[in-house]
Amino acid sequence: MVTGFPTSGKSTRAKQLYSYLDDRIKDTSNGATPKYRLHLISDQTLSISRSVYDLSALPAHTRSANASEKDARATIYGAVKRVLSDKDIVVLDGLNYIKGWRYQLHCESKAVRTPSCLLQIGCPTDKAKGVNQERLRKQQEAEAGGQDAANSAQDNESEAPYAPENWDNLVFRYEEPNAMTRWDSPLFTLLWDDDEEQTKQTFKSLWDAVAGEGRKIVKPNQ
Ligand code: ADP
Repeated sequence: MVTGFPTSGKSTRAKQLYSYLDDRIKDTSNGATPKYRLHLISDQTLSISRSVYDLSALPAHTRSANASEKDARATIYGAVKRVLSDKDIVVLDGLNYIKGWRYQLHCESKAVRTPSCLLQIGCPTDKAKGVNQERLRKQQEAEAGGQDAANSAQDNESEAPYAPENWDNLVFRYEEPNAMTRWDSPLFTLLWDDDEEQTKQTFKSLWDAVAGEGRKIVKPNQ
């Protein structure tokens, strides 16, 4: 599970992680056959819009039951559950900001006797906010430039900005991971400025936890 603030670089790191894991899985130089299948699941791969997280779009009395976000979570849960097994590694790129949700996914992996871990993307709030503001600016430009430009910006959902109050609210609602809890551990962290070497080191430790020496056989009753 990847987690972090909105526009903090989660998808960028998730793609790098996917590529690293793909190389490790396909590395058959020692004569072994690939042991795992790899999957990348995200809001984008499931066509879930940023607006599902927008509480301000809802009337006040329905805020506690944000149906669109719940539906989105059900879709993500279903997609993970369909493929997760002890032979399948799932990179779940998303906000994953609710600790109860991370707990649920952790239990799901335990149920199929496979480890789970968390990759937190550490990025200063100002920087992440700046990325969103830049995307908002581009979107406004595209809209001002006519319908075609607006449509093409909309097509690229991964570059779509969050509405400003949606962005602020998601940061406010973010439930920090706690490495002391079973469902948030092992916890790995990548910072915005981590270079290629540091990133690779982190991915290597992550590989060891899910597929290598450190892989724990998880029993459902543990
Ligand atoms: P998120 O998935 O959290 O919304 P993205 O991965 O889409 O964020 O990243 C937002 C923007 O920041 C992208 O334009 C991306 O190229 C850039 N970016 C992300 N991570 C880094 C990084 N570590 N260094 C430099 N630029 C980055």
